[in-house]
Amino acid sequence: MKRLNQVDNWKIIEEELHKEDFRLAESLMSLGNGHMGMRGNFEEAYTGDSHRGSYIAGVWFPDKTRVGWWKNGYPHYFGKVINSVNYIGIRVLIDGEEVDLHNATVKNYYRELDMQHGVLKRTFTILQGEKETDITAVRFLSLAEKELAVIRYSVTPKNYSGTVTFIPYLDGDVRNEDSNYEEDFWLGVDRDAGEYEAHLSVKTKENPFEAPRFQVSAAMKVAVDAPVTSVTHAQQEKYVENRVDVKAEQNQMVTLYKYVAVTTDRDHEAGLLTAKGREILARAEGKGYAKLLDEHQQAWLQRWEIADVEIEGDAEAQQGIRFNLFQLFSTYYGEDARLNIGPKGFTGEKYGGATYWDTEAYAIPLYLSTAKPEVARNLAIYRHNQLDGAYHNARQQGLQGALYPMVTFTGVECHNEWEITFEEIHRNGAIAYAVYNYVNYTGDHDYLHQYGIDVLTGISRFWTDRVHYHEKKGQYMIHGVTGPNEYENNVNNNWYTNRIAAWTLEYTLKVVGELKSGGYGDRVRNLYITDEETAKWQEIVDKMYYPYSEELGVFVQHDTFLDKDLKTVDKLSPEDRPLNQKWSWDKILRSCFIKQADVLQGIYFLNDQFTMEEKRRNFEFYEPMTVHESSLSPCIHAVLAAELGMEEKAYEMYNRTARLDLDNYNNDTEDGLHITSMTGSWLAIVQGFAGMRTANESLSFAPFIPDAWDRYSFKIVYRGHYLTINVDKENVTISQEGPELIFSLYNVSCTLPANGEVKAAIERKAEVAL
Ligand code: BGC
Repeated sequence: MKRLNQVDNWKIIEEELHKEDFRLAESLMSLGNGHMGMRGNFEEAYTGDSHRGSYIAGVWFPDKTRVGWWKNGYPHYFGKVINSVNYIGIRVLIDGEEVDLHNATVKNYYRELDMQHGVLKRTFTILQGEKETDITAVRFLSLAEKELAVIRYSVTPKNYSGTVTFIPYLDGDVRNEDSNYEEDFWLGVDRDAGEYEAHLSVKTKENPFEAPRFQVSAAMKVAVDAPVTSVTHAQQEKYVENRVDVKAEQNQMVTLYKYVAVTTDRDHEAGLLTAKGREILARAEGKGYAKLLDEHQQAWLQRWEIADVEIEGDAEAQQGIRFNLFQLFSTYYGEDARLNIGPKGFTGEKYGGATYWDTEAYAIPLYLSTAKPEVARNLAIYRHNQLDGAYHNARQQGLQGALYPMVTFTGVECHNEWEITFEEIHRNGAIAYAVYNYVNYTGDHDYLHQYGIDVLTGISRFWTDRVHYHEKKGQYMIHGVTGPNEYENNVNNNWYTNRIAAWTLEYTLKVVGELKSGGYGDRVRNLYITDEETAKWQEIVDKMYYPYSEELGVFVQHDTFLDKDLKTVDKLSPEDRPLNQKWSWDKILRSCFIKQADVLQGIYFLNDQFTMEEKRRNFEFYEPMTVHESSLSPCIHAVLAAELGMEEKAYEMYNRTARLDLDNYNNDTEDGLHITSMTGSWLAIVQGFAGMRTANESLSFAPFIPDAWDRYSFKIVYRGHYLTINVDKENVTISQEGPELIFSLYNVSCTLPANGEVKAAIERKAEVAL
């Protein structure tokens, strides 16, 4: 654990320059607006260790696969969202000497990320010899105008008068740190620099994989609020700059404004990018800094209006949830149906910014409740659009049906580690589950009939081919898999995989029945779903094998899990943790320690299918062996612990998910933030503490309040109702804008009047059946 920042309700505050943890600090100060984003890099030079990274949504490159030993079926490339033009750069020279916080003496260093308004600000005093200079830098990526970035950079000489040189630039000569063959992915296309303006266009290199190429254009406009003594400009193949010298009098602030338009040929014709950039800049200049800032801040305030979660009595918890919502919405707000949510968003390169099962398993519930209905629908349609790729992936493995990828941009698998690419097939179940989740929450059966059934059929056909029949036992099995717990590979009959596979078949059968009886028989026939096929699906459902221990009364993670040396995590010494950084992989694979929810992931998804006793026994057996070294783990445990009345555990798990990055729990935040798991803190509050459930197309709550909190409230959108749930030490109050709603509170049916409220006493201290 490591905390660099102060605790504050709305801000991430850094009061010293963390040269030793510079990358960690850069991750935490990341900004994004859905179209583009970046790590918290400095505008001016920094010669210490740093990871400069700016990324543009949907702009990726197929980096040729690099593996030690090729295995048939491996994808040919790993797609990655690539480090793009560095457009925030401004070199600053004071009387010819470069401002570089790594080398200079820095006083009064202060940086804040204002999450309420989406603004990053730094102030500090720099000492160069005898010269003392105050600097303030403010930047934002506009929410109101997605292709616009704005920087205000001010310099005040404290004890001298001299020349300040600003060199704002656009640098396309950038490379991914994780480039497989240390290659550059960008070629220069054109550039131009004039007085107070410049532009640069770059394009991704050709590739042999038929993957799309992207052109990106950055255009900048510079304004200076000070007496200018000289302006020049320069350019190279992938670089342009302006150089502005200003006369700075003692104690008088000189300010440079840098406006940048970042456009791509994903949105506009390649030939028109520069013109489009200029148009955006002209509009920006016309409005001016103050208006641009105001429009941007209003847009953030509107988002908070719909989605804020308030917590009173626990500032750390409050900061955690807001940080997570802020970073999630900075990455994805559903405006562009072609996009998805990469595990690190715009904050790092690990996981390549690609789409993982994380979206379906963890993110969809949050977007269903906190954004317009189109957003979750877009996420669901995204997978339908990629169905061809999923069929391709199954063929690569010599199998029928559709296998959704572990990592992708197009539907085609990009991942190339055999134990994940070939074996972590449970991911397919999460895609099917998301179809159910979306339809169950929204009641959008149209989606199911138009799109969902294609996805479900493809996945069901995959499972049908991937199971095998054990003659002697008369049961279907799935061998050679990796479950969600990636700390074991090539196991047989992973309970979760078997369960989610059979559940997919069950659900598909139900939907096929619904289509036939609802007058959509054509849809079923067009998919060539025959009675013979549905009979086969039913047989697999009926005869699926599930490892179970009568003695322990638990579902067994896989066939040989109980043969392991079973120990609880409290037997590990602190020096062993995190295992993935301290132990050999061999030792990890043989141990019983679990990376993330596995059996419990199934109990979380199919929550209404298990008794409280089953949930308790499995939780008490597995959680103590779980190291939570995947950021996706604590939230599932928080929700289940809350349901089981284990309030302390639920609260511990909440903090772990909410402050995972702020407190660097897994010692890996320097690589980037854990964006997809950030939904976890919201899940822990809404599904955990407030016990919200939506099974069987009905809404229910059973709230309690953690001891450490005085009050919490959140808002959700549910089928046209805008609900606010407020929980204090005594009462729960549910109010709404919308027509009358029947819902259940602590298992009792209630009527929420149109635009009215229901208030009840808190009933839950310990377990109640939800
Ligand atoms: C987890 C996977 C997850 C991936 C990306 C891994 O550490 O084990 O479940 O999909 O991270 O977040």
